[in-house]
Amino acid sequence: MAKLFRTAIMGPPGSGKGTISKRIAQNFGLQYLSSGHFLREGIAANTDAGVLVKGYVERSMLVPDHLMSRLMLPRLEQLTGHSWLLDGFPRTIAQAKALNDIFQMDLVISLNIPFETLRERGRDDVTGEPLIQHADDRPEALQARLRHYKDVAKPVMNLYKCLRQEKRITQQRRSSKQTAWFPVQRHPVPVLGYRHRPHLALHQLSSQH
Ligand code: AMP
Repeated sequence: MAKLFRTAIMGPPGSGKGTISKRIAQNFGLQYLSSGHFLREGIAANTDAGVLVKGYVERSMLVPDHLMSRLMLPRLEQLTGHSWLLDGFPRTIAQAKALNDIFQMDLVISLNIPFETLRERGRDDVTGEPLIQHADDRPEALQARLRHYKDVAKPVMNLYKCLRQEKRITQQRRSSKQTAWFPVQRHPVPVLGYRHRPHLALHQLSSQH
């Protein structure tokens, strides 16, 4: 049986994390699991969990860790025998530790998007439509969201760096064709339409701890 591959992707709001994750999952045959999707699904179906998390999601606030772990971990436990890619989970150090108690990750991808790129982003990656300017899109609001993301994400990345027994691979590649290539793999994945050419910082983790 092929070795299972367990990976997660992290990125600031507006980084195009959802789009890039789906493409990676599709190209590598990984089960794609988005915490935001599961939350929205629960809210739409008015489940007990959905009612609990609704207020947080509507205000783009972090859902408490114990609720997130209860939402995500049982799903992963049912996926023994599958390779997967997590989008949006773990987001905090408590979530990363809860996850690590059950599964050791093979790879954690951190999308490192310069603030200027996020700020100048004027069009939707997928549709090419101009994005509506909300009050929340003002530079100060964006900066505050980014700072908050970094504060929360940094300990998570540090944990994964500490756990690793292998190398850390960092790649910065720019392309004039709006095409970024997902590195590390033997068969590079074209991340077409990913307009902002992120710097992909890849933290290769050993699965043998
Ligand atoms: P996303 O689709 O990943 O942008 O998530 C949408 C919203 O769901 C976020 O703004 C948070 O309110 C909530 N959320 C998603 N994942 C998590 C998580 N791992 N921890 C806490 N809240 C989350």
